[in-house]
Amino acid sequence: MSQVTTAPAQHATTDEFNPFLSMARNFNTAADHLGLDEGLREVLRRPDRELTVAIPIVMDSGKLQVFTGYRVQHNFSRGPCKGGIRYAPDVNLDEVRALAAWMTWKCAVVDVPFGGGKGGVICDPRKLSQGELERITRRYTAGIMDILGPDRDVPAPDVNTNEQTMAWLMDTYSMHVRRTTTAVVTGKPIALGGSRGRREATGRGVMISCREALKKLGLRPENSRVVVQGAGNVGGIGAELLHREGYKIVSISDMYGAIANDKGLDIPAVMVHLKKTGKLAGFPGARELSGAEALELPCEVLVPAATENQITSKNADRIKARLVVEGANGPTTAPADAILEKKGVLVVPDILANAGGVTVSYFEWVQDRMGYFWTEERVNTSLEQIMVKSFQDVDAVMQKYKVSMRIAAYILSIDRVASVYKLRGVFA
Ligand code: NAD
Repeated sequence: MSQVTTAPAQHATTDEFNPFLSMARNFNTAADHLGLDEGLREVLRRPDRELTVAIPIVMDSGKLQVFTGYRVQHNFSRGPCKGGIRYAPDVNLDEVRALAAWMTWKCAVVDVPFGGGKGGVICDPRKLSQGELERITRRYTAGIMDILGPDRDVPAPDVNTNEQTMAWLMDTYSMHVRRTTTAVVTGKPIALGGSRGRREATGRGVMISCREALKKLGLRPENSRVVVQGAGNVGGIGAELLHREGYKIVSISDMYGAIANDKGLDIPAVMVHLKKTGKLAGFPGARELSGAEALELPCEVLVPAATENQITSKNADRIKARLVVEGANGPTTAPADAILEKKGVLVVPDILANAGGVTVSYFEWVQDRMGYFWTEERVNTSLEQIMVKSFQDVDAVMQKYKVSMRIAAYILSIDRVASVYKLRGVFA
């Protein structure tokens, strides 16, 4: 059973940890700078469509269990909706709404022709077998497929989903439409129409953003200590690429805790250990501390690359980094942002710093539609050009409006989406 609704109006509250309200707050600040009229604000702030689906699954035990899934399409003025699907116990509609809106702004910051969407299923993948995960993915896909398609909405991996999840999604969609439709999803295995370089793209974008920001601060990689939160697709690969560029990674964490070494961690060896044991803990030669403590370690660069609401009004004052590069979506709350700004910490916002993933997702979608596949070198060179140009575009807005980098990124992207919306006009 599924239900399509338009989004309810949002009520203002001071809840620091509601990511949709955080997004709306930054949106309003940027819209004020642009002098955007109230009607257009209302259109652009609200998600266009929200779908909630029940996902009944026969578990391995033979018991029937019903999961809940969401897909939110925030805005498709600039093209099909684009955005990941996450599996986690704490997925909720406000989170998915915020993530969908961030995708709209992110796609506009890097100027790829997509709108924003996001999906999620409330489940704990650690407690599910591969068979159960496959059945959830297939039934969830069947539930939302009326609003999916290469020209409508193109999902991708996010927290706790991966290439295999995308392969199941692509197959389920293709079986329903009676033809193999690779462009319905990105982040697929290369053998199924995935793009070379997609797996590393978000981490690579983080590394490029970090390099550009360091130049602004007059710092050099070899003199920069980095703390990374998260050791998955973004944090793990980001840490490996930063390590390769000569940064000293002094700490990295996962959901179980952090490891640290002031002399720098051997990140490739850490990743081998993580793959083998499933945890960072126990890595030889590193001390162990909590994830929260790791955020406050002395360093030049902090890369939160795990989840939302990690730098908050409670710990922002104790953050020692000079630069925060947001690999995760929404890791810094709005009150924390204000504290960091006062301390003179430069924050490269999520909608710029982690846009490498959606950029290469765009390349993947283009390749699938062309039926012609690029070399990894071409992917990485094109990604590099887009990330550097986007960084410079945001930097120029930052100088022009004398605002934080986050508000500059919102100004740039809202302006791009609003001008397309005005050109298209209001369908009635
Ligand atoms: P992932 O599932 O591959 O990895 C998540 C990592 O974070 C894991 O190592 C997990 O153990 C760790 N983690 C979870 N909670 C933690 C906590 N409280 N403290 C420390 N570590 C914790 O997910 P991912 O794809 O790397 O996504 C991470 C973030 O990046 C999310 O916010 C996601 O929305 C964002 N993002 C991902 C992509 C992408 O291409 N995968 C693109 C843009 C943004």
